[in-house]
Amino acid sequence: MAKTNNKLGLALVGLGEYSSGQLAPALKETKYCYLSGIVTGSTDKADEWKKQYEIPGKNIYDYKNFDAIKNNADIDIIYIVLPNAMHHEFVIRAAKAGKHVICEKPMALTVEDCDEMIAACKAANKMLSIGYRLHFEPHNLEMMRLGQQKIFGPIKGMIAEDGLAEVEGWRLNKTLAGGGPLMDVGIYCVQGVRYTTGLEPIAVTAKEGTKKNKEKFKEVEESLTWTMELPNGIVAECKTSYSEELNLLRAEAQNGWFELTTAYEYTGIKGETVEGKMKFPQINQQAKQMDDFAQAIMNNRPTPVPGEMGRQDVKILNAIYRAMETGDRVTV
Ligand code: NAD
Repeated sequence: MAKTNNKLGLALVGLGEYSSGQLAPALKETKYCYLSGIVTGSTDKADEWKKQYEIPGKNIYDYKNFDAIKNNADIDIIYIVLPNAMHHEFVIRAAKAGKHVICEKPMALTVEDCDEMIAACKAANKMLSIGYRLHFEPHNLEMMRLGQQKIFGPIKGMIAEDGLAEVEGWRLNKTLAGGGPLMDVGIYCVQGVRYTTGLEPIAVTAKEGTKKNKEKFKEVEESLTWTMELPNGIVAECKTSYSEELNLLRAEAQNGWFELTTAYEYTGIKGETVEGKMKFPQINQQAKQMDDFAQAIMNNRPTPVPGEMGRQDVKILNAIYRAMETGDRVTV
């Protein structure tokens, strides 16, 4: 695609499932940014994407020559879509190349790494956002409104569950993933509870589920249940799994309940309250998310999903793992 004046150029780093299945197609629908470059370790993928998305050869990089992206005026935003453990290195390299950055979730494996990523972007005077697409999704936005504005009175409790029945590859490797389903999909439960209540967890307790497949899950948990205590006596009961499909975000408030029963998917999100079904359209979440970031850059305003939000989630995820390992109640 040719450089256009009114759109920011975005380069995807890591052309796996999420980049090819969601982000690149979404970048055909975006109004304020477009796919101007790619960073990949595979020459086959480079050729394929070059043709499919009309990417000029000069905008194609590999992981070694990536830093030369600094001199490429076609690329304003770098989007890191690599395995979790690689986010830290590549966000810092992107910032040092003088580019704005979007980093996929979970932001990193440790809070210290998150701090370094935030500091690198600040030092470069560039914006950093996390790929939290649900902050742009109408049903999830409605959960925020109902919860934070106490439309059904104060929230008493929440249930949040997110699980996948089938996973493979680096997601089962502790070094690359940082953990199991909690890092990958359980993070959406933490997010959901935080944005529905508008409050921060104070303490957590957690219990690892029994491993049905000990060989497959020798490095990471297969499933995990945890409880988050929030201010005002709110308790959130959460569950994540790599052997069971789960998808729920539910709030019990003083005067009624509200929930999403497909809460975190790319499409097919369904919501209901004590008063009836929610009626919102399904939208392209990734297109909305990337366009919002491009507009934030253009208008010099903050992103609603900054690095600091990703850092807080990593802090909570680490507290949950500590609680799981020790059996103790861990303050966040
Ligand atoms: P994937 O395995 O499909 O793709 C990962 C890419 O990284 C591949 O192209 C692979 O070649 C490349 N890679 C480079 N070095 C690698 C290494 N050492 N080991 C393995 N792969 C390596 O994964 P994905 O599903 O695209 O996930 C990538 C990131 O995006 C993860 O952080 C994940 O959490 C995130 N993600 C976010 C969403 C969302 O909805 N926001 C959805 C899916 C994935």
